[in-house]
Amino acid sequence: MIQQKLTGMERGWWVISLENLVWLPQGELPSGTARQWSLQGHMARPIGEWLGETVWLVCQKMASEMASPRMVASQSPKLFQLVGRGIQLAEFYRSHHHCGYCGHEMQHSQHEWACLCNHCHERYYPQIEPCVIVGIRRDDHILLAQHQHHRNGIHTVLAGFVEVGETLEETVHREVMEESGIKIRNLRYVASQPWPFPQSLMMGFLADYDSGEIQHDPVELISADWYHYDDLPLIPPSDTIARRLIEETVALCRNT
Ligand SMILES: [Zn+2]
Repeated sequence: MIQQKLTGMERGWWVISLENLVWLPQGELPSGTARQWSLQGHMARPIGEWLGETVWLVCQKMASEMASPRMVASQSPKLFQLVGRGIQLAEFYRSHHHCGYCGHEMQHSQHEWACLCNHCHERYYPQIEPCVIVGIRRDDHILLAQHQHHRNGIHTVLAGFVEVGETLEETVHREVMEESGIKIRNLRYVASQPWPFPQSLMMGFLADYDSGEIQHDPVELISADWYHYDDLPLIPPSDTIARRLIEETVALCRNT
């Protein structure tokens, strides 16, 4: 957690990040000593471990080759998770120079990922936005939708943000009703995935169709429909929780 000034001798993986981008020279996350990458004198903090070496965060922007963390996702889900942590922390520190209550300048905590106001003693933590995502099965069909925000031909499962004062289960039922007009039942939790675009935590569920006919929300979705498990359109890449939910639903469809 402790921020330190790099001497040049420190070794590990270097997450150099600002404004939701990460430095990927030649498309790869830099590793080796701080000196190798001319990082001596910069402030850095350890944020995890990858292949037995420290992962360091340096909150700054390089002149070129700043890229989306998405590029790391195909290399390794665990590394992608650590890079995602780095870029979210870099954004957290960048947006918390001053206290939101009293306006005084803040300090970084040396014990945890937090910013402290020494004037009014308020403490700020990185914000995480919980988001549900759900694979819905109807006999041997799965519900897939195309999103207005991602016009890339990909068909995926439904998702939405948790509202204030709502349980995860309520969010799933509400989002499914709002976006597709159907009712679901037999809702069960599967797994989660931090999703640093910019600061979501995706919580994945599976559910079964209960009743109603699909009427998609044209503001959010281009289309929504039932697809036979053997004849799926273009679906999300394998490093996403969306893909996992689709694959688990397909496995259930096969067994019906
Ligand atoms: Zn304050």
